[in-house]
Amino acid sequence: MLNPTAAEISLFLALLAGSLFLFWRSFGTVLRTILHSRPDPDFHLHPLGPRFKNFIWEVLLQGKVIKERPLPGLAHAFVFWGFLAFALVTIDHLAGGLGFRLVSQDHGFGRFYFYFAAAFAVAVIVSIVGLALRRFILRPRWLGQVSKESAVIAALIVTLMATYLAGLLWLPETSPAGRLNWWLHTLALLIFLPLIPKTKHLHLVLSPLTIFLERSGFSRIPPLAGDEDFGIDTGKDITRIVALQAYSCVECGRCTEHCPANNTGKLLDPKEVILGVRRYLRDHGANATEPIVGPYIPEEMLWQCTTCGACEYQCPVGIQHLPIIIGLRRGRVNTGKWEDSYGGKLFLNLERNGNALGFAAGERDKFIQKNELPLFDGSQDYCLWLGCMGSYDPRGREIILALVEVLKYLGISYGVLRKEKCTGDPVRRLGNDYLFTELAGFNSEQIKSSGAIKLISICPHCVRTIAEDWKEIGAQIEIEHHSEFLARNVGRLPADASAGTKTVFHDPCYLGRYRGLYDSPRKVVDRSQSIVEPARSRERSFCCGAGGGLVFLGEETGKRVNLERAEQLAATGAPVVGAACPFCNTMFRDALAQISSNPPQLLDVAQIAAASLPRR
Ligand code: SF4
Ligand code: SF4
Repeated sequence: MLNPTAAEISLFLALLAGSLFLFWRSFGTVLRTILHSRPDPDFHLHPLGPRFKNFIWEVLLQGKVIKERPLPGLAHAFVFWGFLAFALVTIDHLAGGLGFRLVSQDHGFGRFYFYFAAAFAVAVIVSIVGLALRRFILRPRWLGQVSKESAVIAALIVTLMATYLAGLLWLPETSPAGRLNWWLHTLALLIFLPLIPKTKHLHLVLSPLTIFLERSGFSRIPPLAGDEDFGIDTGKDITRIVALQAYSCVECGRCTEHCPANNTGKLLDPKEVILGVRRYLRDHGANATEPIVGPYIPEEMLWQCTTCGACEYQCPVGIQHLPIIIGLRRGRVNTGKWEDSYGGKLFLNLERNGNALGFAAGERDKFIQKNELPLFDGSQDYCLWLGCMGSYDPRGREIILALVEVLKYLGISYGVLRKEKCTGDPVRRLGNDYLFTELAGFNSEQIKSSGAIKLISICPHCVRTIAEDWKEIGAQIEIEHHSEFLARNVGRLPADASAGTKTVFHDPCYLGRYRGLYDSPRKVVDRSQSIVEPARSRERSFCCGAGGGLVFLGEETGKRVNLERAEQLAATGAPVVGAACPFCNTMFRDALAQISSNPPQLLDVAQIAAASLPRR
């Protein structure tokens, strides 16, 4: 035991008080900024079950961190578990500074516990050295600039662990060297503490809370709080959850590593969006009226986001990028600050014609009549939602007709709505809530008056918008993607004569990450063809570039996202590319033709299923 002198106790108490004061001075500011931010209008703590489940998996077990980046993830997990193991060690160490111990190291539980913590100390040292090598020597691009603070923190953690091991194994506190070692450990601890709220290591304190308080639903766009809510324009519009998330960013760059826009040379960097909000809050605090876009987040970034959700899926501390990016877009659109000729044309097309492609509604009627699609009269099994692409786009129409063939073969009745407008997906994600509400309201009335109960759609964007976004206007509509329907009925379809053709399947973002459907489309393809996986697939799929309304905006800067993805798919050498979204289809149609004079054939899962049917 240390047996400190009165002078040592006084010095220790003074240093401890100074460290706690400095910690609180920074942390208190952070806490006040979060608490004084605007409450989140849609936030509900209940149900608690999924929150605890998430907390156990992502925080206590570090499951997400390890799953997505196994080696660095495991290293990070050991550091985290080491911190937990050291909680009691640290309290006992501080008690030692006052001349007493809470746990005896000499027998029973204490003996076991201190050696148990020693094992973690070794694991933490190895992990920190590994992480430092990665950060300072390997330096992956998405980690950004090497920060001095990371080096200081790493050195402090290694000092804490090394002095602990030395004190336990070789330098008893009663010896002069042991006493020096005790003070070294204490100083490292007291310097480390106030650095936490000033650096990205704030996530040590905040991220468990951030993960527990995550908004429910993947990439869900929170509703506006009323007529006076224009989205995120100034600090007054930053909510508590957004502030908490911004302060929790650990600057790991996982979001950036997976961002299709960033990977194709665009300015958008999801990490910088989050750090921009954090810088704003640090500079101005809560409820400021200075603008965010421009000084803190370049406007150009906002309109390069395809809303693919890869960033949110990857983030290890529960940061939800899309409510922030779309919130900022809302702020620009609703205050009239966004000027874009393509965006303006899209809004006009939707206001006047009700479809994003700008066709007269009569074109949809002609397609329905020409192909003798029955109108939904309340007696059929399904209401077939055509969507803009299925109604007006030639390739989208082909997918609809392929699905109709399968429905007929299976003896499943269907009908289409007499009138249908765009679901509002692109305008919702471009921040035009007024137009979204108009479109969603019109459509939900049509569905209600038709008596339709079950909808089926070829478009994951329509499915997402109808099933989730429309809830905001009070519409609870059951809709499924055609791949779900086809997968359920695949056993009733004949096996295709072209069995064994290699098909590389592209997971659409809105079907995979958004709806969690990876196996359904594969089941359909697998029935008749042999599936090849591209380098990025399932949860890590790379966007086609169309989402978030971007398919309707102008030229991209940098490389086109669809080209990058088409190259990834073509690199597998498969003669067929399987898709399950009419937007992916339209993006790849051009891109595949551009990269090869003999491009792979592009087929939707409905077309793959229809190809197996006996020809009439
Ligand atoms: S949603 Fe996709 S495109 Fe948008 S910032 Fe995130 S990763 Fe990038
Ligand atoms: S937002 Fe999340 S994924 Fe991106 S850098 Fe911050 S912690 Fe990492």
